[in-house]
Amino acid sequence: MRVIVLGAGDAFCSGGRRHSGYFVEAGGVGFLLDCGATTLQGLKALGIAAERIDFIAISHLHGDHFGGLPFLFLEYTYEKLRTKPLVIIGPPGLEQRVRNLYSTMYRELAARGMAFPLHFFEVTPGKEKMSHGVTLLPFRVPHQEKDISLGYRAAVDGKTILYSGDCGWNDDLVARSRGTDLFICECCYFATSTNFHVSYPQIARAYQQGQLGCKRLVLSHIGREVLERIEEVTIECAHDGLVLEV
Ligand SMILES: [Zn+2]
Ligand SMILES: [Zn+2]
Repeated sequence: MRVIVLGAGDAFCSGGRRHSGYFVEAGGVGFLLDCGATTLQGLKALGIAAERIDFIAISHLHGDHFGGLPFLFLEYTYEKLRTKPLVIIGPPGLEQRVRNLYSTMYRELAARGMAFPLHFFEVTPGKEKMSHGVTLLPFRVPHQEKDISLGYRAAVDGKTILYSGDCGWNDDLVARSRGTDLFICECCYFATSTNFHVSYPQIARAYQQGQLGCKRLVLSHIGREVLERIEEVTIECAHDGLVLEV
């Protein structure tokens, strides 16, 4: 399994980093974990053809995680005509929010309908979803007050990765990390402490105490506070274009 970090930044593109997006390739299937507003830029900067994407799993409906879908639709409509179906998986409300977003950004084009087969699948947290041979387990994470935010555990080709999406630090992540090959965890803050994002000292404590059961831990969705104190950070951090061989 190979994971390519398309964007390791937060919503503010701190440090000039792109929004959340991870291209995963394993067992002959390619998929995205999240598709932030700058994900198409990331694909092109890194030479990854958009047609290599079979499906997309969206963690939550914030612009830095799903705002790039309309640009991908445009790519598939004009630049690289897509004929194979695209599956988009995500939390409840996904289809309406994506269609509204596309219509807001490209009203006339959206009104014509999609130029390629597009299927939405809204998942239930805790219920496995198979797509293209990948077993996805979505789980709810604390990030928004009412709307559902998800993390994912993805297993394919004998490898398992855990992706936090955006979330506050919690013991559930510790338990879910056990037995995974790679854990990509958000790390938005350093000094700031909230229930909706991870602060570096929280994950560093768990990591140093040996609580996490993943083979490799990589921090991503890295915010300004973390970048300002990067010399104090001892856990591996992602950057745009980082290739993770799992
Ligand atoms: Zn975010
Ligand atoms: Zn968010």
